[in-house]
Amino acid sequence: MVRRRISPTARIKTVLAVGGIDPSGHAGLFADVRVFTDLGIRWKVAATAITAQSKTKFYSWTAVPIPTFKAQLQAAGTKIFGVKIGMLATPRHLAVLLDWLKQTGPRWIVWDPVLSASTGPTLFRGSPRHPKFLELLARCDVFTPNLPEVEAVLNRKIAGQSGIEKAAQELLKLGKKPMRLLVLKGGHANDRKYSTDLVYSPRGYAELRAARRPGNPRGTGCTYAAALLSALCLGRNGLEAARFAKDYVLKHLFAK
Ligand code: PLP
Repeated sequence: MVRRRISPTARIKTVLAVGGIDPSGHAGLFADVRVFTDLGIRWKVAATAITAQSKTKFYSWTAVPIPTFKAQLQAAGTKIFGVKIGMLATPRHLAVLLDWLKQTGPRWIVWDPVLSASTGPTLFRGSPRHPKFLELLARCDVFTPNLPEVEAVLNRKIAGQSGIEKAAQELLKLGKKPMRLLVLKGGHANDRKYSTDLVYSPRGYAELRAARRPGNPRGTGCTYAAALLSALCLGRNGLEAARFAKDYVLKHLFAK
């Protein structure tokens, strides 16, 4: 009898990370692929920008030429299960990515809306109110902003619990209907004791709370979104994936 062999790698999903290159390895595409590799997910990347930075100092960045970015997306092929989006550099890169997403239709689009580096400089040369930015918001499945990013997208300051709740409802209205997962990350909130992420999904609402740990590591947003997409690839549901990603960041980026 001939047995059909199932390749041990047959079920491994491939993801595409779109973002900038941080040569220090703390954030951006290198941080993403470190997570994917650690969790056994196959990956490809498409770079929007090359930055020059160390752990603490940002020197400069330059956008990858549009034809090169387009070619990288083409080269990634169509068998992409999920896309993790970070630094988008310019509205033109965003528009090219949107076209590619429409053509290929990956199962999951996870967007960490990187607008500036924690060391200061702007990493998106455009407005978060740009029509293409809002179009991507309406297309993504998972949106993982921190508080400053929410304020930039909604173009106003957010204060207090009721302000955050109102902002979440507004983002959900701007987003895909229904958005599969909206995570408002609590790392920038005022609470000194806990960092609480607010997770909205069609299944309901949850608060993921963790005691704050010392340190201010770089690349937390990138690592979080990459871990979340990895968990989705491994079959977890949205809330489980959000919980997994939070634990992953705590375990790998913060001292115990
Ligand atoms: N992506 C890239 C390419 C970056 O260079 C940075 C920051 O410098 C980020 C993302 C955001 O990372 P962080 O949260 O450490 O500022």
